[in-house]
Amino acid sequence: MKKIVVVGSGFGGLSIASKLKAKKFDVTLIEKHKDLGGRARTFVHNDFKYDAGPTVITAPYLIDELFSAHGEKLSNYVNLLPVKPWYRFLFDSGDYIDYGDKLISTVHEIKAKYGNDKAKAYLKLLKHSKQIFKKGFIELSDEPFESIYSMLKHLPALIKIRFDRSVYQTVNKYLNNKNLNEALSMHPLLVGGNPYSTTSIYLLIQYLEWKWGVYYAEGGTGRIIDGLEKLLIKKDVNIKKNTEAKKIILKNNKVVGIDTPQGIIDCDIVVCNSDPTYTYNNLLDFKPKKASNRFNLKHSMSLFVLYFSTTKIYKDVKHHTIIFSKRHYELLNDIFNKKVFVSDPSLYLHRPGATDPSMIQNGNDTFYVLAPVPNNLSKIDWNDKGNKLAKIIIKNLQEKIMPELTKNISDMFFVTPDYFENELNTYAGSGFGIQPIFTQSAYFRYGNKAKEAEGLYFVGASTHPGAGVPGVISTAKVTEKLILKDYGTN
Ligand SMILES: Cc1cc2nc3c(=O)[nH]c(=O)nc-3n(C[C@H](O)[C@H](O)[C@H](O)COP(=O)(O)OP(=O)(O)OC[C@H]3O[C@@H](n4cnc5c(N)ncnc54)[C@H](O)[C@@H]3O)c2cc1C
Repeated sequence: MKKIVVVGSGFGGLSIASKLKAKKFDVTLIEKHKDLGGRARTFVHNDFKYDAGPTVITAPYLIDELFSAHGEKLSNYVNLLPVKPWYRFLFDSGDYIDYGDKLISTVHEIKAKYGNDKAKAYLKLLKHSKQIFKKGFIELSDEPFESIYSMLKHLPALIKIRFDRSVYQTVNKYLNNKNLNEALSMHPLLVGGNPYSTTSIYLLIQYLEWKWGVYYAEGGTGRIIDGLEKLLIKKDVNIKKNTEAKKIILKNNKVVGIDTPQGIIDCDIVVCNSDPTYTYNNLLDFKPKKASNRFNLKHSMSLFVLYFSTTKIYKDVKHHTIIFSKRHYELLNDIFNKKVFVSDPSLYLHRPGATDPSMIQNGNDTFYVLAPVPNNLSKIDWNDKGNKLAKIIIKNLQEKIMPELTKNISDMFFVTPDYFENELNTYAGSGFGIQPIFTQSAYFRYGNKAKEAEGLYFVGASTHPGAGVPGVISTAKVTEKLILKDYGTN
């Protein structure tokens, strides 16, 4: 039986471990930290628990598949609650739109605030997004792109859906309204892309939300991670926490083991869920062979995330509020391209208690607020700037949406790009791996199967199809196909 070691327990690592175990491989999962989940772990601080990362759960069937592969049901492990509305988009003028979960109410909202023409334009945009979704998600998200030729055959269809336009350009073409443009082109930011440079293929996320809805895991996203951990233990996956891979050992260009501080683990196959740029730089002694992966890769922005609780229950605050800064293009340019500190960030505020009363803990409302910030190629000193940005954000929330916030805070801490770089081993502390631009998509992304050594594979945000929970679980689908093609089932 082939022995597989999965390095890292993000959604990518947990997914591939589940899938390969279901195909009867001997699977060991190693994780640097004492807990599983990577970006999707749970933080506990002063007895309050917080989702560290993903909160918007979409395409839940992909999570269900990880359980059904073993004849089990996701619903026996965790309850997914529908979120209503999905998002409140709050603009600098104070205007807002409530978006999702009913199409009719969303269209009415756009009509009431921006007129009938814009409501009709939105429906046309959605139709376009559906076409992209059919091609980009249904057909291509779990297709292995092993050669450039495998990509070329899709070019005519991609040209038809105008992949050459950015998400922002496409939205603007339909809506042509500052607020609506900003709100409806925000999806790339959820996967680490700048809406002004991300290929319009990623507009598929918009339709994907309508197709399957937006959910929150009751008790927090960590419940999904706990459910997967229980499942893997039950199925005899060997989980080793506090175990960091230091080197991938090769013999005659073939994987033979992993070196860890606790000793060498022999294996035939390694699947890295660790960030590929970090992995090539630190765990392997060579550079990627693919020219597109060797130089000038653009890594995504990073995130400043402030976790806090309040003694007051802010019942008027929706579950997901996106607060747009006055600046948009210039702000994103500062973050993605100029890589300078920004003191007026756009914000995403997460209030799980709006959907799940159990997240109101000991009478306290719990939150996180996230600001996209430059990755660590910026050289910003976060020991200096972290507290400064926290104060700016609290002031901003207090003025715009949470009156008297300062005096109601009962707990607070934050993470900066340094957390993503040093704790999660991500190159330059990028929040989402490499950016989702066309020249870094499909074949041009990091290979799910490495070309340099036999038995070496990747899953996770920087591989095809990309970041976000549905994307990352799909990377495991692609990698599973490649491993089964190479090794057959056990
Ligand atoms: C704050 C935040 C909010 C987000 N919100 C959403 C959302 O609402 N919805 C959504 O769909 N997506 C969201 N995302 C994106 C999504 O969370 C990620 O794309 C996804 O979880 C990444 O999973 P992954 O498997 O690629 O890797 P990761 O989660 O990064 O996991 C990699 C794991 O590998 C481990 N590791 C690294 N190196 C080693 C080593 N040498 N040895 C052993 N272990 C190692 C790390 O410790 C980590 O546990 C969000 C991301 C962030 C950061």
